[in-house]
Amino acid sequence: MKMPEFSLIKWQRQFGTEEACAEALTRVRWPDGFICPVCAGKAYSYITSRQIYQCSHCQHQTSVTSGTIFHSTNLPLVKWFWAIYLSASDKGGISALRLSKQIATTWLLLTVSCKDPYGYGAQRQHLST
Ligand SMILES: [Zn+2]
Repeated sequence: MKMPEFSLIKWQRQFGTEEACAEALTRVRWPDGFICPVCAGKAYSYITSRQIYQCSHCQHQTSVTSGTIFHSTNLPLVKWFWAIYLSASDKGGISALRLSKQIATTWLLLTVSCKDPYGYGAQRQHLST
């Protein structure tokens, strides 16, 4: 079965804003809804002005990019998504199936590569937010 392809134009329509990219990352990071990285609580408040999730149980604040290379580089998500597209595409197009796998794989690799080898990341993150 031939899968539909994403052109760069279609990609830009779908992921052309920071909000659209953040929504896509949210679906990958928390496919079943927000989960607090500190207490695993699922209830939260969303602080729109700062694009921050605040756990209703422990008050921990986090963003969809916290603990990932997306956060530490301060590069706009739109540019990260261009890089994902360009790294995943060949001959001008990419299947929707391959693209979804590429985003998930890229996400996992970037998240794993940013993990603190000593396990202090969650504490530092908590203190810095
Ligand atoms: Zn919590």
